[in-house]
Amino acid sequence: MKITSIFEKKTVFSFEVFPPKKTSPIESVYGALEELQQLKPDFISVTLGAGGSGNGENTIAVAKRLREKHGILPMAHLPCIHYTKAQIDVILEDFRANGIENILALRGDLVPDLVPSEDFRHASDLIEYIMSKGDFDIAAACYPEGHTEAPNMDIDIEYLKRKVDAGASHLISQLFFDNEAFYNFRWRAERAGIHVPIEAGIMPVTSRKQIERMVSMCGASLPRKFTRIIQKYENNPEALRDAGIAYAIDQIVDLLAEGVDGIHLYTMNNPYVAKRISEAVSGIIRTGDK
Ligand code: FAD
Repeated sequence: MKITSIFEKKTVFSFEVFPPKKTSPIESVYGALEELQQLKPDFISVTLGAGGSGNGENTIAVAKRLREKHGILPMAHLPCIHYTKAQIDVILEDFRANGIENILALRGDLVPDLVPSEDFRHASDLIEYIMSKGDFDIAAACYPEGHTEAPNMDIDIEYLKRKVDAGASHLISQLFFDNEAFYNFRWRAERAGIHVPIEAGIMPVTSRKQIERMVSMCGASLPRKFTRIIQKYENNPEALRDAGIAYAIDQIVDLLAEGVDGIHLYTMNNPYVAKRISEAVSGIIRTGDK
């Protein structure tokens, strides 16, 4: 089943998980998958480290298990910046052989010490290539506050349009903590002629270290309400976790009220947090059905 078709019927609610590193057994995520399945998301996406930094096989194994054991629609991430066309051909063949037809096509972040691909410079190159290779449903990433390398938002949105024109039929956003930034981005994307569904990426913050790492990677701005929470509860992990969950729920309720196409929850493989958020918003997502 193609994920794009779900947006026609309802507000989509999806999760993101990461596979275990090469050094850990694949079984180490089985418990989390089992618990996440019970929350009945519309699909679960599985990350893949750029540069084949290790877990391509595990990405496929996790996606396959989601589909076969749990009956959950999987989406496999695919970053291209360190792959040749021949390597992408092999991966696409593996996807096909394992019943994976939904792909999040990405450039990926450059891995120092690895030479960038001659074949793929941007996600749009990969999207075009996958489109030429058969019947996959392709999503792409978008950045409500602009990608960190983009000179400005207008140029970033121009390149985003290229990804959609190349064949991306829905978008998943980078995490953000300021809903106004998302609404502004959505409006600008619409004005630029981007009319595919856009899922809002929500990351519940559960530790100070996590937020520092995420913000330094993606440059998300932090509203005052959010930094006050971090400052107040940074030394009380349980309180910070509860406040982080409450903040994410608040964001989601507001997004649903504003008619967002979907919510993509970065679960960090933490079913407890995903469960509390899912339970809090499930009634609203149901009533928000299209
Ligand atoms: P692109 O769309 O190629 O954009 C990258 C930069 O180049 C932007 O600044 C853009 O403005 C510019 N650009 C785009 N097209 C062109 C063009 N034609 N000419 C000139 N400039 C252009 N990374 C992983 O390694 N593995 C994952 O599993 C993963 N999952 C992710 C999931 C989500 C939802 C998101 C939002 C990101 C994810 N990432 C992942 C991170 C992502 O790979 C990085 O953010 C990366 O830096 C950009 O990827 P992209 O696909 O958006 O790149």
